This record gives sequence, C-alpha cells and structure tokens, in this order.
Amino acid sequence: MNVSLLPTAFLPFLVLAACNGQDAAPDLDIRANDRVFINGRIYTANKDHAFAASMIIRDDEIAATYGPNVVTNEAVPDGAEVVDLHGHLVLPGLHDAHLHPIRAMPLDICSLEDTPSTLTEIAAFTSDCTSKPGMSEGEWLGVLLWNFAAGNQPGDEFQSIREALDAVSTEKPVILRGSDGHHYAVNSVALARAKNANGETVGFTKETLATEFTDLAPYIGVDETGKLNGRLTEDYALEAIGGENILDSSIAKARDKPELMMEVTLPRGITSFLDAAAEPRTLDIYDELRAKNEFHARAHLTLYFDPGAYRDEAGTVDFDAIIAEAKTIRAKYAHDPLIKADFLKLYADGVLEGDPLTDPPTLPNGAFSRNYLQPIFAWDEAAQWVRVASYVDTASVLCVETRAAIAAHQMPDITSFKMEHGFHPQQCLEANGVLQHPEDVIMDYVRIGDAAGFTFHIHAIGDRAVETAIDAIEAARRKNGGDNKHIITHLQVVRPEDIARFKSNDIYASFTYAWATRDTQYDATVIPFIDRSDGPAGMYDPDGYYYRNVYPAAALRDAGAVIIAGSDAPVDTKDPRPFVNIEGAVSRSIFDLPPLNEKQAISIYEAVDAYTINAAKALQQDAIAGSLEPGKKADFIILDQDIFDLTASGQAAQISETTVLETWFGGEKVYASSE
Ligand SMILES: [Zn+2]
Repeated sequence: MNVSLLPTAFLPFLVLAACNGQDAAPDLDIRANDRVFINGRIYTANKDHAFAASMIIRDDEIAATYGPNVVTNEAVPDGAEVVDLHGHLVLPGLHDAHLHPIRAMPLDICSLEDTPSTLTEIAAFTSDCTSKPGMSEGEWLGVLLWNFAAGNQPGDEFQSIREALDAVSTEKPVILRGSDGHHYAVNSVALARAKNANGETVGFTKETLATEFTDLAPYIGVDETGKLNGRLTEDYALEAIGGENILDSSIAKARDKPELMMEVTLPRGITSFLDAAAEPRTLDIYDELRAKNEFHARAHLTLYFDPGAYRDEAGTVDFDAIIAEAKTIRAKYAHDPLIKADFLKLYADGVLEGDPLTDPPTLPNGAFSRNYLQPIFAWDEAAQWVRVASYVDTASVLCVETRAAIAAHQMPDITSFKMEHGFHPQQCLEANGVLQHPEDVIMDYVRIGDAAGFTFHIHAIGDRAVETAIDAIEAARRKNGGDNKHIITHLQVVRPEDIARFKSNDIYASFTYAWATRDTQYDATVIPFIDRSDGPAGMYDPDGYYYRNVYPAAALRDAGAVIIAGSDAPVDTKDPRPFVNIEGAVSRSIFDLPPLNEKQAISIYEAVDAYTINAAKALQQDAIAGSLEPGKKADFIILDQDIFDLTASGQAAQISETTVLETWFGGEKVYASSE
C-alpha cells in the first residue's frame, strides 16, 4: 500500500485507529485499487446526521463508510491507497443552489468588486481601468460590480454619479453595472443617446421624461430639480440608449478561458450548482469545458428566457416558442452525466433597495404587500452616511392634494414646495413596487413550464412577489396534477401567512444566508422604506415588519419546508463564499454587528444540509450526490477546521475563515489548496 498524506501539520484528534485491526467489522470489504480515507471526521449528511471515521472509495463512488476504530492501516490490502485525514473534517461536496458561474469567473475586466467607493474614487478607477488596452466595451467604457447601495458619497468635485462619469469621458458613453445586476449608472453622453419610439435621438432629459419617456421615467434617477443624476434602475432604459448588449465583452473573455469557471467553484468546495440564469447564448462555454474534460461539477442549468421578449403587440406571450427552445436545450443535455438543463428561471420582481442619496429618494421596486414609506433622509456628517430625520405623511391633506396635482400634470414648484414643507413633492406619491411581469404572465408561464416537466427557480424578493410565486406554483400543480418541486429564491421578506404554503406545495426555499445579517449602509437602502426607522430602535425594531419577516429560514424549517443555500455570486461578491454563508445562517451576523433577528438562525447541521443533501434534493440528484453514503458519487471536501466544533464551542464567528484543503469529484482529486 502507499500512504499519501495531507500537506499539513495538524495533530490527529478524536479518532485513533486501533493498532491491530482486531476491531475490523466482519463485513469489511476493501479491495485492491480502492482508496481508503482513514482517521477523519466525516460528516455523512445521512438522515441521522451521522459521522464516520473512514470511507472507502471505489472507482467514482463511495463503497462504504465506517465508524471509529474499524478501518486501520493494517486492514487495507495491497494495491489500495490509504489517505490519512489526520482528523480533518470531511463534508459532502457543496451544492450552490444559486450561482452565476460565468459572470463570477475571474476575468480580466474592469470591476469595482462591490467595494463602497466615493464618487471621486469611482471616477478615478473608471478612467484608469477603461483606458487600459482591451478594456473598452466597443465604443462604450464599462465597469462591472459597482456598489450602488453603499459609498457613492458626493464631494467637492462631484455631486452625482453622472458628474463623476462625465469626468471619465465627454465623448464616449460610460456605464457602470451594479453588483446586483439591477442598477446602472451612466454619463451624459449615454443619456443623450436615448431614442424615442420613432427612432429619433432625443436623449433622456427632464423634458423627455415628462413627455416621450413617461413609461421609463420611474427607472431613471433625478435630483431635486428634476435633472437626471445618471442612475438607472433595472435594464428597461438601456435599450433606448443602445446599451443593452454592452458588457458582453465579459462573455467573450469567458469563452476564451472557460476553465476559469472551475476556479469559481472548486476552491470553495462546490461540486454541484444551479446556474441560476443560464442564457442560451452562453452555453457553448459549458460545452467547451465538457469537450476538454475539464468540467468537474454536477450542474443544472436554469434556462433564462424573458417572457417580455416573446410578447406580441397585444401583450400575448408566445410561451410555445419559449418551451420549444427550452426543450431543445434540455434534449441536448439529456444524456450528459454532468449537465442537465431542466430548470426555468422567472423573475417575479426586482429588488428591495431604494436610493436614499437621490432627491426624492428612489423607492424600492420589489413587489410589496404594503405601500413603501417616504423617509426624509438627512446627511450624517460624522457617519458619512444618511440617517432618517422624519417621514412624509402621505395620508395628509397636503399629500392628497399634491398627488392629485401631479396626476393632473401640475407639479408644484419644487423649490418653493421644499422650502415650505421640507420634502420633495414627489414624496407624496404612494407605491408598493411592481411585479416583473403582469401577474397573468407569471401564472401562465409557471403552469405551462410545469406541464412541460420543467422545474422553476423563481426570483422573489418582496413579500408580494413571494405570494404571487407561490400562487403560480400552487395553481400549476393543481392544474397539471404533477408533483414537480419548484424553488423560490431570495425570499427577503415573506408574509407570515405564506410560510406554511411552502410545505403544502413542496416548494424549496433558497436563501443567501450572508445577506440574512445586518449591514448598516445596505439596510439604510431598504428598512426605512418599510418600517419607521426614526424611533429609538432605529432601523432594527424587533417589532418591525421587516425585522420579523426578513429571510425567515427558521420559520420555514419549523413549518416543514426544506431550506437550501445559494450564493448568488457574483452579486455582492464574486466569491461564492459558502462558509461565510454558513456562518450567516447559524449566527445571522457576519460583520461584527448584532444579529438580524436571531430567532431565524438555524443550526450548523441545518446549514450544512442546506448546502449538501437538501440542495441535492432540490437539484433532483440526491440519488447520486449530497451525502456520503454507499452507492453515491464520491464528491467530497476536506476542510482545515471543524465547523461543527467551532459552533458548539461558541466560535461560530470563525466559520467564515474555513479553507478547503481538497476537493474530490467523482473519486478524483480535482483541487488541492496550496497552503
Ligand atoms: Zn441571481
């Protein structure tokens, strides 16, 4: 036998092999060519949450696992390989049930990496990076992963992001894409390119927003005088300025180096994932990797078709065309052992972040069950950030009259209104966000896709979007009589009355647990619009609607729903950071701040199961992956620290520092840390 050792100096603990093999179980079955892992702390993720000490790998599968003192060096026959785990923790390979693996690739592109930056810093970075060779986007200058929520502080130089980007170029259009994929910033050249319905270049201006572009106006940021500040919400306005396909150079660069996809997953221990919005035009990147035999993951593609793009003039969506296209792709991968294309993506709404830095503040546009509040923000010099000074009473006579005036296109004089009342007249408006598509389109798509045997992965962030997503799934299952188990992802706020409906409709609940934590700057873009945040508890009132219903992981578990995990990388961070997410799940805190509703924390076992066996169920591959049990594929990871022990000893705050030492996929070592 040969003995390979992990490249570490860790002391063995917990499991000591018996020295003479007398404890060997009678049915011990180890053969030549097997790989035998001994002296480990192997979390099997089986139904008993059992640990094993040793594991026999035969070909690409797990042949057996055994408890302590069963398998010893001496019990291993010649020809088999022994790997001493030195007491390290082994987990099943992780399943990331919400990943954008192509957009998360470490490509040579201009990216602000979501770092909160001042307007001056953003202008300097954008100028510098986009002027390098190979970094422009055709005639556009583009930067990815702009943190739209935090940073962006004005200074002496620039009052708005538009001014900052005008400093980058007054000749070329400049665009930043927000790290959530739902926010953009552009310069004046880009705004001036807007074409109206007749194809005439009229530009986005205060005047054209009030006339030709009233439909797009809610998505285009303005300052207190109505002047455009360069901020765009969602991508609806991009088509008018010819920017809908910019930033595509990142896809071309991904195509050049498809192997970088594995750098997203394997160093983080991810051996399975759901590509949460697989665009058909990018699937050749997968094919290239498969052809080179360099694809080491069990992937499920969530095919993304925008129903809005399949709509005729009367608003009727050609679902037959979508399903036909989806079926063709599904058939192409039907016999691929590693890639399946059996999910469909649907966005039920947008996001819950408003923008406190604009005047009037941009309200969140996620579909919510109640009207958003209208906070009056003040700049806090010490904190270099906004605080909530007070609120507009939208039920007041003043606001009722102001709304009527605005509806009649008689906007009060903004400057004098503000002088008199202390807020922008548009803050009298009432809104509760929007669904991404008309409700009947959501209902129809889910029913038709479900009937065609596809599983939906529905993005729902506001509580009204969650309700609609559940309604659609419920109606589809009733009509089609199937038992397809769909996934709803994000679930930032869920109405209490919808919690039990997950179990009754077999819906998997997918969370990004790193977000189920406090993040003061981010929270200021959301919570003040939902709950009064000018009281003594500030934004974190335990009785507040947001606080009580935010990312309700434990409530869903208690109601019998299966909860799973996904990173949504590169949103927020390109690193899918599973151990940061696990830390967030168990402590509801990752930033040294108090927890965000600790009642919704889950146990370390539930968090690991969310990343392994339960996500494997959601990806419909628990028969072959998700736990370390005989007959399953040998997908597993070896970690540098024991996250179960850390949690038990009150050191959950260290879980995020976990390093993956090795990643094994189908019985082969596909990644080893250089540490
Ligand atoms: Zn996503």
